[in-house]
Amino acid sequence: MSALARYFSNIRDSVSTTVEGLKVTTRHLWTVKPTTVLYPEVDVEASLPERYRGFLVNEVEICTGCQLCARACPIDVIYIELEKNEETKERFLTRYDIDLGRCMYCGLCVEPCPTGSIHFTPQFEGARHNLGDLYRRFIDEPLPVYKNPKKPKPVAEESKGEES
Ligand code: SF4
Ligand code: SF4
Repeated sequence: MSALARYFSNIRDSVSTTVEGLKVTTRHLWTVKPTTVLYPEVDVEASLPERYRGFLVNEVEICTGCQLCARACPIDVIYIELEKNEETKERFLTRYDIDLGRCMYCGLCVEPCPTGSIHFTPQFEGARHNLGDLYRRFIDEPLPVYKNPKKPKPVAEESKGEES
């Protein structure tokens, strides 16, 4: 192909791809609903999907202190400390912190939690000037750990025990 032919070929390609792009834009302009919303006028949280991963929180009132969440975290950003009253044998949560500044929102800590104590909220406005401000402490003073109610024995098992 001569230089002149290549020149005109390039012009033709440029025009045709521009027209093709404009066709797509025009089609979306009239037929497709916008996927963005007018933040902050619109209540964004209400429109988020059910399983959206916003801030990670722990409802410490129903935390058993089992530490399954901390063990599941691949980057060790959950810090738990417990104390035991040797007289009453009662256990207390004395520390439950999550370093959200380092959390990667993978959700692996949420999966094994037996009570749903640790979970994501739809809250997403996490921008901070200082990364340290994302370090969350959930315990102010020692809190008795939540005792997960024992599941009732299946009827068959109970009757077996009575028979023997
Ligand atoms: S979401 Fe992932 S990274 Fe964040 S605390 Fe849980 S397990 Fe760790
Ligand atoms: S948040 Fe859940 S998994 Fe973590 S210590 Fe508490 S009860 Fe156990």
